[in-house]
Amino acid sequence: MPTKIAAGNWKMNGTRAALEEAHAIAQVQSGDAQVVICPPATLLTSMPEGLATGGQYCHPATSGAHTGDLSAEMLADAGASYCITGHSERRTDHKETDADVRAQTEAAWRAGLIAILCIGETLDQREAGETLAVLSEQLRGSLPDGATAETLIVAYEPVWAIGTGKVATPDQVAEVHDALRDQLGAEISLLYGGSVKAGNAAELFALDNVDGALVGGASLKAKDFIPIVEALA
Ligand code: PEP
Repeated sequence: MPTKIAAGNWKMNGTRAALEEAHAIAQVQSGDAQVVICPPATLLTSMPEGLATGGQYCHPATSGAHTGDLSAEMLADAGASYCITGHSERRTDHKETDADVRAQTEAAWRAGLIAILCIGETLDQREAGETLAVLSEQLRGSLPDGATAETLIVAYEPVWAIGTGKVATPDQVAEVHDALRDQLGAEISLLYGGSVKAGNAAELFALDNVDGALVGGASLKAKDFIPIVEALA
């Protein structure tokens, strides 16, 4: 059985004041679901004991002359056990390619981190009927060989649904997740991401091949994130 996972991506949000939210999230009764928060790297070492954490990106190299970057080893050293790779905001803002994402995923594995590999289509691609082909190509280009349920989580995040308030319909999510399950096998956890909130989480989690969510905006406040965890647990 794939592990159920509720992962929060805080993006570039949160100063030390946000640790209060992390402490509240750490208290949630999550049953057999794993809760993960990916805060800004500046907060990693201050996150509460017992709350699993992740980075939002890692550089492929272990160390070196890469001003402003962070290696997977640094994230692990700061307490992270997960790392998001291939988030669409990184693909857009930093022009990260599938090859870059593949190198980052390999780096995450090298450091012992579980990669949360994000894939997703744009609205134009969906409207052109290219969704499954685009996702399959992204996986082919960005997923290194040798993935296991212990090293990889895949997050389907339609670009048009991230931070927009537009959620993919259960039928749209089911079509993609069923195809991903066929492609990736029975054990890899498959998360949906894109405007997940308390009001829509249960309907998404009821789908056969949805093992949890990667949550942006609604993970910033414990009062918004905890009901999502509870819907999964
Ligand atoms: C995300 O950034 O991974 C995400 C899903 O954001 P939101 O939940 O805000 O759409």
